[in-house]
Amino acid sequence: MKCSGIDALTGEAVEITAEGGAITAVEPLLAPPRGLRWLAPGFIDLQVNGFAGADYCSPETPAEAIGRSLEAQFAAGVTRIFATVITGPPEEMLAAMANLARARRELPFGRAIEGIHVEGPFLSPQDGPRGAHPREHVRPPDLEEFRRWQQASEGLVRMVTLSPEWPEAPAFIEAITSEGVVAAIGHLEATAEQIEAAVRAGARLATHLGNGAHAMLPRHPNYLWQQLAEDRLAASFIVDGIHLDAAFLRVALRAKGVERSVLITDAVAPAGCGPGVYRLGGQEVELHPEGRVTLRGTERLAGSALRMDRGVENLMRLAGLTLAEALTMAARNPARIGRVEHRLRGLQPGERADIVEFDYDAAAKSIRVTRTWLEGKLVYEG
Ligand SMILES: [Zn+2]
Repeated sequence: MKCSGIDALTGEAVEITAEGGAITAVEPLLAPPRGLRWLAPGFIDLQVNGFAGADYCSPETPAEAIGRSLEAQFAAGVTRIFATVITGPPEEMLAAMANLARARRELPFGRAIEGIHVEGPFLSPQDGPRGAHPREHVRPPDLEEFRRWQQASEGLVRMVTLSPEWPEAPAFIEAITSEGVVAAIGHLEATAEQIEAAVRAGARLATHLGNGAHAMLPRHPNYLWQQLAEDRLAASFIVDGIHLDAAFLRVALRAKGVERSVLITDAVAPAGCGPGVYRLGGQEVELHPEGRVTLRGTERLAGSALRMDRGVENLMRLAGLTLAEALTMAARNPARIGRVEHRLRGLQPGERADIVEFDYDAAAKSIRVTRTWLEGKLVYEG
């Protein structure tokens, strides 16, 4: 496979050659033709609960539906996801993970499911921080349950989001971190000391910072400042223009720096579909015409209908980032923070040939994905 374009992270016009799933050569184009398109490493979404009608939290979602959801994400420039399973009854969470592992094995491009992110069930039981996670299934961290997840998912669990407010949290974080699984904190009502203890135990990411929180907080101290101030914590952000207002986003990005910030969608099944009612595990969610997704019959946000290419645009428009900075948050940082091998160095020889090609309109701050390759294989052309 060969492609040429402007590497959006370096600004250089290049020709890329890939073989056997990996980039083998990147040559500078000495006389770049006019109208070259742009190239970037394929986007990595560390938190996606479903897409294009497929619900990753349901054990019954057929592999074909998961396959279609992956194809819909390829069209948004995504090449790797951490399929996300949220709080539910233990046996249902296990069955959902087994279902995802089976789909990964059976689908032709199943390898796009890089791993599983378990968000919950070890979260805050409080209204507000708990968000859309069902209270009756929230429980304290349990390493035995984590082991059952790994067994059911064939070792696919690569990230766990939990709240540091549980006394069991530091020991749990230390144990999973020592096995190479990323510990993230979120949906929390934790003190400064509890957050500090979680970070000392190995937690490295604040999940969708600014969401999964109380509507009202004491101005200071509070757990948002604490996570913003903690330099050892990276942070993920849902940049759909709904979950976070532009001022918070800008300030949070300055506090973390682009290098410690990750774009996620936190998308749910209705993403990429029309307004209506959909499943999220054992609950019903509703996609409204203006793009909000709520637990049905409530005003509580329950994930998003965001796609990664729109998230990249929103980072440029709402937060004033450059194209290269926005792409760094969509491709390189999630690789580093999610420990995705052979995806850390950008478009370089030896890296996986996960590549997205797109048109870029600098004035409109918009991108349009034209082709996507997964391990050198064309998986989207539009
Ligand atoms: Zn969440």
